[in-house]
Amino acid sequence: MNHFPVFLALEGRRVLVAGGGEAAIAKLRLLLKTTARITVVAEDPAPEIEAWADAGKLTLIRRAQEPGDALCCVIAYAAHEDHCKDIKMLRMSTADGALVNVVDDLANSQFITPAIVDRDPVTIAIGTEGAAPVLARKIKADLEARLPAQLGLLAKIGKGFRKMADALPMGAARRRFWAEYYDQTGPRAAEQGEDAIREALDDLLATHLRAEARPGHVDLVGAGPGDPELLTLKARKALHEADVVIHDRLVPPAILELARREALLIDAGKEGFGPSMAQPEIDALIVEHGLNGAHVVRLKGGDPTIFGRLDEEIEALDEAGLSWSVIPGITAASASVAAIGQSLTKRGRNGSVRYLTGHDMKGFADQDWRALAQPGEVAAIYMGKRAARWMQGRLMMHGAAPATPVTVVVNASRPDQRIVEATLATLPDALDGVTGPALLLHGLAPRRAARILEQEIAL
Ligand code: SAH
Repeated sequence: MNHFPVFLALEGRRVLVAGGGEAAIAKLRLLLKTTARITVVAEDPAPEIEAWADAGKLTLIRRAQEPGDALCCVIAYAAHEDHCKDIKMLRMSTADGALVNVVDDLANSQFITPAIVDRDPVTIAIGTEGAAPVLARKIKADLEARLPAQLGLLAKIGKGFRKMADALPMGAARRRFWAEYYDQTGPRAAEQGEDAIREALDDLLATHLRAEARPGHVDLVGAGPGDPELLTLKARKALHEADVVIHDRLVPPAILELARREALLIDAGKEGFGPSMAQPEIDALIVEHGLNGAHVVRLKGGDPTIFGRLDEEIEALDEAGLSWSVIPGITAASASVAAIGQSLTKRGRNGSVRYLTGHDMKGFADQDWRALAQPGEVAAIYMGKRAARWMQGRLMMHGAAPATPVTVVVNASRPDQRIVEATLATLPDALDGVTGPALLLHGLAPRRAARILEQEIAL
């Protein structure tokens, strides 16, 4: 780290900007947000600068910089957009004792101005040591989008309320209170103005004090197919707030990393939790942590409502009297069709689509193979690898064409995603050696292959 970030106290202190053009205006826009006393020296200042001077927002000196202009300045900006003038300014101001930034000249600058996300008094400074200004701007844009516009006001009011909130026990209880204020209560009340925020804070504190011994809450969350960018914002937020995360084997580390550092992570997919035997144990685990007052995230691959044994968990939660909510996720079928550029439904081809499993509690799942064997039918088959040969037999028995396309998408949306093009006839052999979660798309070929096939048929 060559540049150490600090926040300078500028109240009542002097800042000098030398130059009167675009670069000076850009810096002044930032500086005018502060409580500093700003002086501009410029021979030919732009009208904006003159207007600011007329409004008493800064002191304008209409001449070239002279020795002594930067006396008592903490920082100074050389913003002439002219190398010779800027270097002269650098020398003069340094002699006056100010730290100098030469605009767009990292090598000659004694400090640099970060990209700033301003939710005063919450200020976020982003720096890349000049290495990647574009990246800094992208991070800034991401943060801008994520932080409520009223955050500054919320923080100001929250600061005044800290003493009152100390009535809550330190640690998780206080954290929960502030998290709810900043995430939900505050932003909602902010729409009605400052008084509403104060009132909402009082109410929220009363609720939290009353519910101090309240049981926890369980979010049943879809983690999506694996790519962390395919998480919903809601899932991300739940993960960030959770005290305990109980996750499946399919959830990759990159997603688990989004949990708080202090959160307890429990792998419910590891050895010792056999697939069918373990469910009651998992249910008990979720309930136990919920009753302890924790905010539990039960994190499942894909969408929790698809082959996710969600209902058993919900029943256990209801029985224990725990509150719960379901946060949907992107299911493997959606990620898989996206990978091959196809639609799950298509006008004139299939007006319905089946989500089926190759396996059920009794072994290979019995499905309506006769209906699926019709031309144009599409199905997303989960857990279908081992049942492939059996399904092939069933479908062909009901008259499915051996040339029916079946595409296998392995590790959909993950860096090691693989697409295996097959037909009903070649499917079992095509699956040879395939490891990792795989989804079978019955009736769909990758878009490019499908087009070639159509052309061949037309000939
Ligand atoms: N709830 C999950 C499905 C759980 S069942 C969802 O909505 O996606 C587990 C099966 O899902 C796996 O056997 C595999 O068939 C499929 N699956 C899950 N993630 C996958 C991925 N990233 N790529 C391909 N198939 C996946």
